Amino acid sequence: MNDPLLQGCPETGHNRPPGQQAGGWPPRACPECPGGKLFEPKVVNQLFCCPEHTAAWNNRATKRGRVLTSYSMVAAITRNGTRGTPERRAAGKAACRAQHRLIQRWRDEDREARRMEWADYMSLRIQLGFDPA
Ligand SMILES: [Zn+2]
Repeated sequence: MNDPLLQGCPETGHNRPPGQQAGGWPPRACPECPGGKLFEPKVVNQLFCCPEHTAAWNNRATKRGRVLTSYSMVAAITRNGTRGTPERRAAGKAACRAQHRLIQRWRDEDREARRMEWADYMSLRIQLGFDPA
């Protein structure tokens, strides 16, 4: 049903533009639902089962990103503390450790809540065309 040529089917809503039709796509796992509960996508690239779960996932990711950005930038730019002046290398090593600690903690929190694994979430985003492969 992902073939755009097959999307004119009246029972799935012929007045909607392609990609906006209700139903017809196989059930997929919601990243936010505990245990990846399956839902029926209403649009071809629907990631989450409901707007509340979209907001919950994105708000948490935004909050984490605010903390992670500077650590991630410094770790990458200093190649985990192996490039630059001694001060920059020290900052890079500290950033690298902080980044790993935070990511492990968040991964554990997500597993505890039985959310989708991040690599699976990214894979889903690539499949649905949100991120470059
Ligand atoms: Zn959900």
